[in-house]
Amino acid sequence: MSDGKRIGLYPGTFDPITLGHLDIIERSAGLVDHLIIGVSNNPAKNPLFDLDERIKMVERETAFLADKKGIAVEVRSFNSLLMTFVEEIGASVILRGLRAVSDFEYEFQMTAMNYQLNPNVETVFLMADPSLQAIASRLVKEIAIYDGEIEKFVTPTIRDDVLTKLGKK
Ligand code: ADP
Repeated sequence: MSDGKRIGLYPGTFDPITLGHLDIIERSAGLVDHLIIGVSNNPAKNPLFDLDERIKMVERETAFLADKKGIAVEVRSFNSLLMTFVEEIGASVILRGLRAVSDFEYEFQMTAMNYQLNPNVETVFLMADPSLQAIASRLVKEIAIYDGEIEKFVTPTIRDDVLTKLGKK
């Protein structure tokens, strides 16, 4: 930790950022002195939006936090092992959102492995807001591909980005 400040990392693919992510970001920001949103390159997941696009979307969608709530978040990309990135940025806490039992198995295993790699870093889970817990980036994309309405899951600007990317606008 640098100068006694608690740095938290919220990592994800954010392909694209959803209202569920934004809720976790806002709540996480209240738990740490400085929140870094880590956008994972993750080519294995074959993202719809490339890394630069995802970073710009996260920056744009979180700008209101600084304007309206005085919460400054930093957006960084990473292409390495999560724990390597955590050490590089001096974070002491990893923040994750938990939607359902289905998230739990994977997160439980990953947290245990990360703890072996660096026991000084704690992973903190925030329960998804019940009204947002069904939202997943993967489903947002699937719904949009089949011409379903995604306005309840993402901001209007992200909705535009998804429709444009899919050639539906
Ligand atoms: P990853 O590839 O790391 O799963 P995601 O972008 O899918 O990246 O998710 C990043 C984090 O946000 C994960 O901890 C995930 O559980 C959480 N998350 C995703 N959607 C929601 C939601 N609707 N509510 C709460 N947390 C969520």
